[in-house]
Amino acid sequence: MRPLLLALFTVLSVAGLAAGKPNVVIILADDLGYGDLGCYGHPTIRTPNLDKMAAEGARFTQFYVAAEVCTPSRAALMTGRYPIRSGMAHNQFRVLRNLSKGGLPASELTLAQALKAQGYATGMVGKWHLGVWTNNPEHHPLKHGFDFHFGLPHSNDMNPSAGNPPKANARGDQDPAWWNAPLFRGYELIDPKADQTQLTRRYTEEAVKFIADHKAQPFFLYFAHTFPHTPLFASDRFKGKSGRGLYGDVVEELDWSVGEILRTLKAQGVDENTLVVFTSDNGPWLLMGTETGGSAGLLRDGKGSTWEGGMRVPGIFRLPGKIKPTVERNVASTLDLFPTIIRLAGGSSPTDRPMDGVDLSGLLFNQEKLERDVFCYYRGEKLYAARLGAWKLHLVTQAGYGEKPVTPPQPLLFDLEVDPSENHDVAAAHPDVVARIQAAIEKHRATVTPVRSQLIDVVAK
Ligand code: MG
Repeated sequence: MRPLLLALFTVLSVAGLAAGKPNVVIILADDLGYGDLGCYGHPTIRTPNLDKMAAEGARFTQFYVAAEVCTPSRAALMTGRYPIRSGMAHNQFRVLRNLSKGGLPASELTLAQALKAQGYATGMVGKWHLGVWTNNPEHHPLKHGFDFHFGLPHSNDMNPSAGNPPKANARGDQDPAWWNAPLFRGYELIDPKADQTQLTRRYTEEAVKFIADHKAQPFFLYFAHTFPHTPLFASDRFKGKSGRGLYGDVVEELDWSVGEILRTLKAQGVDENTLVVFTSDNGPWLLMGTETGGSAGLLRDGKGSTWEGGMRVPGIFRLPGKIKPTVERNVASTLDLFPTIIRLAGGSSPTDRPMDGVDLSGLLFNQEKLERDVFCYYRGEKLYAARLGAWKLHLVTQAGYGEKPVTPPQPLLFDLEVDPSENHDVAAAHPDVVARIQAAIEKHRATVTPVRSQLIDVVAK
């Protein structure tokens, strides 16, 4: 090729690549269970927008988060690494609290930072829970790769008002005055006691505006809802409308929000070039009871547990024209989002640290076979269980809340493809499988360097 033609070809190729970078929207619900959406079998909660998104994309039936509670799960999503590696897990404290000093270490590379390096505009709306910036400004999303931020630093129950009634989280007769939900735009506290009935709507308006403002360049929007984490609040438009009480009202409002995002992508002409992922940070908070806790469907236990109900969650991927409508039965996890998305953006995963996810693009776009090693179920800093293929081995078991850990004399083995509810231990019949998973666990453990947990230290009151 002659130099001029070669130069022209190079310019066109680079321009073509840039034009091909898909926008990315990750929508994360908080404590939404595997069984809480219409498209995952809930009989009365109406989720027409998510059902349609699932019908147009890939709906995963075996999609996992890398931890059973908020903070470690979000750290894993944002870094593509088990939270044990970043110190974002702890056996006792479980999550960051409103007085926590720690947060996601600056040495961690977030998906937002990696996408920013590829020319993406990056925005975060909603609940962060990777560090409280009023205790240390370095923990702000704006310090971790995001150009734009609107939301709460932590869970909506972490700063109760004086006079907050006992067991207030689980109550259906909520009063916004019982809670101090500090709403920020960047570093500016715009509302120290946000009316939580308006949170989903306000978040959605900000997310819609972010998309409209950045449609001309590749953008990444991380939209992490506050709900259905308790206390539950729905706006008047949704309150009392579902057949599943307040919990259903809240989920139906989240579904409305998803519809607004998808409608905006179409209206802005970027629908065909935007990957949208919907998932939840952990299973349902069963401790809340039937009025305000969700459902893990046929899965055992919920939030806080390494039984399937704690860590298997809805996972829906939509990219029109590239992802064919399918029900995807391969195992996948939020750890996979980093390697998958950075590759689509034209970048690559860091090679200076262990990364724990796999690139899903071959599976999603070309139905290629997925090579996956062992998947580890951590509770805090302790590895409780591991999955290899269809098999899951439990070294330790424990319900989400209120029980002590149990270490059985022999690990328990379940075939999740025939027994997703984990009712029938088949370890005695498959010693070879038990040995294979134990070897895979030891191999994984050899890659883990212990670090001090970020969840221990608190600031003085
Ligand atoms: Mg959560």
